[in-house]
Amino acid sequence: MSQLKQAVKLALGEDRADVAMHKLSRCKVKLMRTSIGMSSMAMSLELIEASDRCETMATDGIRIFYNIDFILETKEDELIGVIVHECGHVIMEHHGRRGNRNPKLWNIATDYALNIWLIDDGYKLPEGGLIDAKYRGQKAEEIYRTLDNDDDALQDAVDQINNSKDDSDDDDSGDDDSGDSDQDGSGLSGDEASAESGKESETGKYSNLPSPVGEVWDASDEDGKPLSKNDLDKLSASIMKRIAMADSTAKAMSENGSGGGLSKANKIASADIDWLEVFSDHLSPMLSLTSQHGIDRIADILGEVCIYLQKIQCRWVVH
Ligand SMILES: [Zn+2]
Repeated sequence: MSQLKQAVKLALGEDRADVAMHKLSRCKVKLMRTSIGMSSMAMSLELIEASDRCETMATDGIRIFYNIDFILETKEDELIGVIVHECGHVIMEHHGRRGNRNPKLWNIATDYALNIWLIDDGYKLPEGGLIDAKYRGQKAEEIYRTLDNDDDALQDAVDQINNSKDDSDDDDSGDDDSGDSDQDGSGLSGDEASAESGKESETGKYSNLPSPVGEVWDASDEDGKPLSKNDLDKLSASIMKRIAMADSTAKAMSENGSGGGLSKANKIASADIDWLEVFSDHLSPMLSLTSQHGIDRIADILGEVCIYLQKIQCRWVVH
């Protein structure tokens, strides 16, 4: 029904950007009816049109970016799912946890960690949303390591993303950065050895990986520069405050007094990070640096550990 109304509006010459914006607003209002908590998180994130650099939707922990075509082409119930997906990235603070990991592989890992939680909560996603029961309960860092070490697991992810692109739209598969070698939808060069070939060069590692629906980008300021540690910490504190408010609002509004579950999601995502894994993920790039640089990086990481421990303390006070 809504898609039909939308088609009529566009046929009558209404501006595509306006139609997309209205559709997003309608989705946010619908979300309010089903989840006050999630809706209040969504309301706190500014919507920015970014069709030139975003194929679907994305968040940097501060804003939600969107592609007009994607908004117009996606059904409303699935669009609500993608908005919640972006909120989930923010709640789990995926925008600040990537470290030195590859951004494309990090997107895939975080989606596997997030989408199961989202589907369990009854939301719908467009085809191609990365879901695999074997990752249930795992943190993004663990999933990243599996994908980084297991070519079959990585190929499964690539196939899931590309199959959906084949189904929904045959002509846009090579749009972003699949570059030269392969335009048939596999996203990586070759069939069998594709995951392997994506690992080959140090700089272009995973550069051919396709992007799943609903990306997460590193937190950045308005000029696109990465946030300083101090600002990242302030952002984290602000998110935790919003999560606490969202949960208490949901609790107050619900008939049985149950909360919105946002704080639980945040805790699941970050409360028991395996620091051995974190160090290990940082180790390979560190080894290739000069010794002084390497020492600086170790100091940086230890600083991150301290900030994390402070956050944990804050969390126990807030919740
Ligand atoms: Zn995502």
